[in-house]
Amino acid sequence: RLSKRRDTPAASRPDAGSARDFSTLPGMRDFGLLKAALDQLRMQSPLFQQHDGLAGAHSVIGGREVINFASYNYLGLNGDPRVREAAKAAVDRFGVSPSASRITSGERELHGKLEAALAEWHGAEAALTFVSGHATNVTVIGHLMGPRDVVVHDAAIHNSCTEGVRLSGARRVPFAHNDMEAAARELSGSRRAAQRAMLLVEGHYSMDGDSPDLARCVDMARRHDAWLMVDEAHSLGVLGPTGRGVAEAQNVDPVGVDLWMGTLSKTLSACGGYIAARAEVIDWLRHTAPGSVYSVALAPPLAAAALASLDVLRAEPERVARLQANGMALRERLRARGFNTGASQGSAIVPVILGSSVRTVKVAGALLERGVATQVVVFPAVPEQSARLRFFVSADHSEADLDRAAALLTEAVAAIGRVDAHALG
Ligand code: PMP
Repeated sequence: RLSKRRDTPAASRPDAGSARDFSTLPGMRDFGLLKAALDQLRMQSPLFQQHDGLAGAHSVIGGREVINFASYNYLGLNGDPRVREAAKAAVDRFGVSPSASRITSGERELHGKLEAALAEWHGAEAALTFVSGHATNVTVIGHLMGPRDVVVHDAAIHNSCTEGVRLSGARRVPFAHNDMEAAARELSGSRRAAQRAMLLVEGHYSMDGDSPDLARCVDMARRHDAWLMVDEAHSLGVLGPTGRGVAEAQNVDPVGVDLWMGTLSKTLSACGGYIAARAEVIDWLRHTAPGSVYSVALAPPLAAAALASLDVLRAEPERVARLQANGMALRERLRARGFNTGASQGSAIVPVILGSSVRTVKVAGALLERGVATQVVVFPAVPEQSARLRFFVSADHSEADLDRAAALLTEAVAAIGRVDAHALG
């Protein structure tokens, strides 16, 4: 050890006192400008809010109870006693850490049970879990596709998907959000030059709260001999009469989708991600995907929590109905007050488009002061004039919560000044 340390070049030692320059890191300059602007405007960053205790329909931020729309606690299962007990029992039986990847340190029966349940839920043959939803997309897309391939995807797709495509070296062709004509054009235009092709969409878009036309996606993928991959992070437990996702909501046979991706961190109130697909693909991923072979398995308490959440979801579909009713009710209350909820279909995600980033951050702060936590999305995550607050609705929100949130948003906007004219829809 000692000799190794002596061999380390002087400049790379922490005590070397070298003035290494980090200013050329990607985004570092913009980040500095943003911080300076917040300082100058005496605005507090709306990010990294600390929640104390359980972040449910209500949460405690800064010592005050607030109505919480900033967590993906869609069915109110975060902190559900059955989910907590399952996680505790798993810790008592297996401990917390799975130690290493399953290929080297072995399986726990919870992994197989959870994967069988997830596969069944999606109407797929098999499933494989990973440590997070983000890691799932990066490793699976990065592994499935290669430099001679093309991935045609919705422009609003999640960062984990674009990172996966980047890693794969495949050609990346975005199409305008939810524009199926554009998708067909891009797929037909790029298919011939590519060895393999993938059409990549989300079941329910997290920025806008809308869904693609799944039957058209299935048809398009078939016609162009492309795999269809659907990210169901925000659809599981959210869409369809029993929460099975976009296929159930749109009455489409799930077999038409080659790869279902999902996360355990939202409806299933745990942490982790998964792919559900044909058994041969899952077996290949299990044995060869870097995120499976070289990364640690899902921790036992997380697998147990997700499994218990899925059991509750199956047993209590009324939670899904309550969530859907709440989403629609909030959207209608906000619209009635003149807010622009964009393309939201009135399910679990309701954006309120407020215009500029500065105004949106100010409104978020004023709203939090009044007791409502939301998620702030500003440039560059969305175009500058469509900065927004996102409300993530839960089955556990009461009507009074929704009424109050809409009324307090009106108050917060009034306190900040008039909403940009174009932001009123
Ligand atoms: N896909 C989508 C569409 C997402 O919104 C997210 C996270 N918000 C992920 C994947 C990543 O999931 P996780 O946070 O569980 O890593």
